[in-house]
Amino acid sequence: QAKVAGKSCYRFYSRAMDQAVERRVRMEQDLRGAWDRGELSLAYQPIYRLGDGQLVGAEALLRWHHPEQGSIAPSVFIDVAEQSGLIETIGPEVLRVACNDAVRWHTQFNRGKELFVSVNVSPRQLRSGELPDQVATVLRDTGLPASQLHIELTETAVIGDEVHASALLARLRSTGVKVWLDDFGTGFSGLSHLRRVPVDGVKIDRSFVSDVLRDPDDLALTTAIIAMAHSLGITVIAEGVEKEGQYAILRERGCDLAQGYWIGHPVNVQEFCGLLA
Ligand code: C2E
Ligand code: MG
Ligand code: MG
Ligand code: MG
Repeated sequence: QAKVAGKSCYRFYSRAMDQAVERRVRMEQDLRGAWDRGELSLAYQPIYRLGDGQLVGAEALLRWHHPEQGSIAPSVFIDVAEQSGLIETIGPEVLRVACNDAVRWHTQFNRGKELFVSVNVSPRQLRSGELPDQVATVLRDTGLPASQLHIELTETAVIGDEVHASALLARLRSTGVKVWLDDFGTGFSGLSHLRRVPVDGVKIDRSFVSDVLRDPDDLALTTAIIAMAHSLGITVIAEGVEKEGQYAILRERGCDLAQGYWIGHPVNVQEFCGLLA
């Protein structure tokens, strides 16, 4: 396409592409040692039960504080980690820290006994096939009860190769951990997928939640997801709850759990302990 547009144009595109590639390569290099240099940490976003408003768990969200560039969003660097394969070393560290923190919540705070921690896992981590063993090892090493660890996978991780993915999910669930489908509703698979892919929970994507008060279609879809999931024995979690009205309508429609800026922002582990105290 660029070639057809002429030589100068080609050079322009090529230089812009070089710069993008260069930025990516540099980010990959920086990310390589980031964990060991202590630049990566976990933030925890509280998850509440809608029925009684109880704090029941937290989602672990990776944070990168770059020495020169400051904080870099996961939406940018997770992709680099995924493409480069670095996620295969970072992922297990995330799992370990999250489980260790959760065990501390259980031992330090009486009412923390029931708290779960939910960890995001990328498609590549699932496909490597090592995840079930990694999970079993980290549960053994940390002593966290398996039911208190939730693994979040996006639809893209299970789409395409459903037979393989279902087998991996079954192995994962046989360790006792719960598997949640993240960003649910954004992929192409939709509700029919839930019959074939064994999961314990679905997280309704923020894009639906943000419009439940304004857009009757989004409310209808959200209500349908809740009904369908419940009929299959699947828990429903709403993400991105930013308004009291959204919280209220989700509770009214029977949604089980929720997280979002209106209820609680992601915070560092000390601040999260403050919420428990
Ligand atoms: P996600 O798993 O869907 O996480 C939810 C994202 O929504 C988080 O963004 C969270 O900070 C943000 N959020 C929560 N409540 C609200 C709200 O009320 N309004 C809005 N607008 N946003 C809200 P974050 O932390 O930037 O993470 C982005 C994505 O990066 C995550 O999406 C997840 O896919 C990925 N990610 C984060 N940590 C990890 C990790 O340790 N491993 C892997 N593989 N992916 C991760
Ligand atoms: Mg998530
Ligand atoms: Mg999500
Ligand atoms: Mg809409």
